Amino acid sequence: MAKRDYYDVLGVEKNANPEELKSAYRKLAVKYHPDKNPNDKAAEDKFKEASEAYGVLSDKSKKENYDNFGHAAFENGGGGQSGFGGFGGFSGADFSDIFEDFFGDFGGSRRGSRGRSSNNRGSDLRYDLSITLEEAYSGKKQNIQFSTSEKCTTCKGDGSKPGTTPERCSYCGGNGRVRSNQGFFTVQQTCPQCAGSGEEITNPCSNCNGQGNNQIAKKISVTIPKGVDDGTRIRLAGKGEAGTRGGGSGDLYLFINVKSHDLFKRSDVNLFFEFPISIADAALGTTIEIPTIDGKKAKIKIPDGTQDGKQFRLKGKGMPFMRRGDFGDLYVQVKTEVPVYLNKEQKELLERFRKIENEKSNPSIKKFFQKAKDFWKS
Ligand SMILES: [Zn+2]
Ligand SMILES: [Zn+2]
Repeated sequence: MAKRDYYDVLGVEKNANPEELKSAYRKLAVKYHPDKNPNDKAAEDKFKEASEAYGVLSDKSKKENYDNFGHAAFENGGGGQSGFGGFGGFSGADFSDIFEDFFGDFGGSRRGSRGRSSNNRGSDLRYDLSITLEEAYSGKKQNIQFSTSEKCTTCKGDGSKPGTTPERCSYCGGNGRVRSNQGFFTVQQTCPQCAGSGEEITNPCSNCNGQGNNQIAKKISVTIPKGVDDGTRIRLAGKGEAGTRGGGSGDLYLFINVKSHDLFKRSDVNLFFEFPISIADAALGTTIEIPTIDGKKAKIKIPDGTQDGKQFRLKGKGMPFMRRGDFGDLYVQVKTEVPVYLNKEQKELLERFRKIENEKSNPSIKKFFQKAKDFWKS
């Protein structure tokens, strides 16, 4: 079958300007669009024929070739890459785009997802929340308030005045995308008129001005699980901004900041602190009470002869593991404090103690000076 003249296909004069070409193509594309004419082979052919004609005539250089040589300009892949039989009029650079553009709809796969694509999904939101270590230990419920967009209650989010429905976008024929030719390349773009939805709102909802969403101050109650750490990110699915035109809501991410604590240092699920004891307690031994993160006390037996830096582990007195029943540990480290500002009596006692100190009670000192003597001798 001989190919029809491209100008005849579009029904325009040879001297038609780009706007006239576009508008003629648009009319045909809308009329013969496969979505509108399911299982109609004749309409499908008309649609392809119009698309091919427009693909050539909307491209300056291809149009020039066509005007000079007719269809022969594109035979045997003359207009672009070979191997794209029957579509010699299109350059091969965007094969997949063209393919999807003109054939994607025939299978119906893209149709189903249109208007619900990820482009229409609402934005994710971030909310920074500062809590204390004690709150991280016990978990808590917290009300938070933030600005977000919510589906319009009047139009249920479709942007149209109740009782009216959006119409097929006149600019892209409901396709959501438009093609333009730039030199040898055919570029596909999201339709500027409908932003890719393929629909046009002719009677906008007055409550949201056709946006489908309204900006609101939203208040929700969130549960901070036990054991969260500084930097923990909690995802609240679907609590972000509302989507547009049927798109799903984004997510809300809580970024947890756990404030540093005066007493407890945290490392993962373990807690740590140093506690000072007097040299008398360290030497003679004692029992002391230390605080634990649950607000209670724990007793530690300090044996006689406890050295500076000695660490004690209190099992299960650390932070809870998130979403588990068990706990980390609390490590406490002895820091012996040398007494200062001694009064007369204390000084006298220590002087007496110094006189009767022996090597056996200070093994480290003995060891050190033995090594020093050996060093000086050699
Ligand atoms: Zn509305
Ligand atoms: Zn459109």
